[in-house]
Amino acid sequence: MNHNLFATFATRMDERGAAPFITTSEGADYSYSEALAMSARLAGALHEQGVQPGDRVAVQVDKSPEAILLYLACLRVGGVYLPLNIGYTSEEIRYFLGDAEPALFVCRPASLEEARTVAAECGNIRVKTLGTAADGSLMQAASQATPLDEILPRDPDDLAAILYTSGTTGRSKGAMLTHRNLGSNAASLVEAWRFTERDRLIHALPIFHTHGLFVACNVILRSGASMRLLPKFDVDVIFEELLQSTTMMGVPTFYTRLLQDPRLTREACAGMRLFTSGSAPLTAETHQAFEAATGHAILERYGMTETNMNTSNPYDGDRIAGTVGMPLPGVEIRITSRDSDNHAALPQGEIGMLEVRGPNVFKGYWRMPEKTREELLDDGFFITGDLALVDERGYVQIVGRDKDLVISGGYNVYPKEVEGYIDELEGVVESAVIGLPHPDLGEGVAAVVVVHDGARLSEAEIIQPLQDRLARYKQPRQVFFVDSLPRNTMGKVQKNQLREQFRDTWQ
Ligand code: ATP
Ligand code: MG
Repeated sequence: MNHNLFATFATRMDERGAAPFITTSEGADYSYSEALAMSARLAGALHEQGVQPGDRVAVQVDKSPEAILLYLACLRVGGVYLPLNIGYTSEEIRYFLGDAEPALFVCRPASLEEARTVAAECGNIRVKTLGTAADGSLMQAASQATPLDEILPRDPDDLAAILYTSGTTGRSKGAMLTHRNLGSNAASLVEAWRFTERDRLIHALPIFHTHGLFVACNVILRSGASMRLLPKFDVDVIFEELLQSTTMMGVPTFYTRLLQDPRLTREACAGMRLFTSGSAPLTAETHQAFEAATGHAILERYGMTETNMNTSNPYDGDRIAGTVGMPLPGVEIRITSRDSDNHAALPQGEIGMLEVRGPNVFKGYWRMPEKTREELLDDGFFITGDLALVDERGYVQIVGRDKDLVISGGYNVYPKEVEGYIDELEGVVESAVIGLPHPDLGEGVAAVVVVHDGARLSEAEIIQPLQDRLARYKQPRQVFFVDSLPRNTMGKVQKNQLREQFRDTWQ
């Protein structure tokens, strides 16, 4: 049997025939049969470029239907798809190409010269281009290539993709994902979120990250639904799309931005059946405000590059604000003490390191055997690096990243708890609590705060109200006011940057 993930997709694509797969506002649409045919043409082009099973195909291109078809073509030839953040500079690309040693690098037409230089420096890497108007040398090659109709056989544990992590806590790591990893997760999510052929998904996420690439595209391909591909999240466009769609997958900033708009009403979302959120924590306030405005309880789920999705709030049943739900079928979790190495599960309700095991868990970090050994345990559990607890109903609450935990004078301070109190204060938009080097305490607690336009808040007005709510060691010793928190494209707050910026506060 062929375990190539694309084999499952191809069967479904064939059944769906003339039904829409991808539509765009420019009318660059693909039915399922057109997508199947174009993936074969692109696969033919990859084949002619010398891409062999197991070869990496690095891709740094703008979002377009053809970029998704390139992902499919790569699976088809047995290649390993390796998408790169479009924000990376050529300096960064040099690192990724040097690390991954792809057979082919597909770049934007405008970056061809730079890409050629970098590719030549990194070895014998061929370069092709792909633009957003179905243009570029790869598309040209595809139009002349003999279509590759076969699907090269793959084993479940063969690599389908290498996806670099977001680099929130340090340098990005290449997560090796297998056909089984991606296939099993897509199947679970279709089931858990009840995707069918009748769905139309608003796709406004980037496609170089696990959320917009695997969660969104694989779920659509497996269910035979369609997706409206948008270049980015534009509020005006979203309000039009809401009227014609059934589902949206978002990051928390999508929801906070929709909430700022008076057009967000029950009527505006009348045809929608599901809103999901992930990639960063959704606050309970946003969850509640969205429900009050639209009648929809956002379904929050939790995942990461290394594991795809691990937990999800239920489709039927309570979607509890501030939680990421329960493990998906086949996924096991345990919460272990961060202070001991025996990985024994802590009693229910206690905060500890979240570890996961299942068919979704990756094969290891690309060319980082030591890091892989440290984080992927012999018994199959992967140490996520996130701190969490399981509440009495079995719902998982993510408390924050282990690396963001502040240890002040020997006491653990969970930033999320402190941020929760600060965010409730009148005039505060949001906050980030971080630990900064402190001569006596090891780390001191500092708060970085964004206030509403026109609000005038002093440091004392932030710290004072916390005094009867939080133990002394949890209270910020210093407050910094900023215009906005640094975030990456997935809406993740870059605490590393903040720690760097304010590093010298007490030293
Ligand atoms: P790096 O590993 O390079 O530091 P990263 O962890 O941000 O970057 P991703 O794999 O994109 O890279 O993100 C996974 C992380 O995102 C999770 O470990 C978790 O911290 C966070 N995350 C994802 N979904 C949620 C959620 N629903 N609530 C809270 N955090 C979430
Ligand atoms: Mg990570």
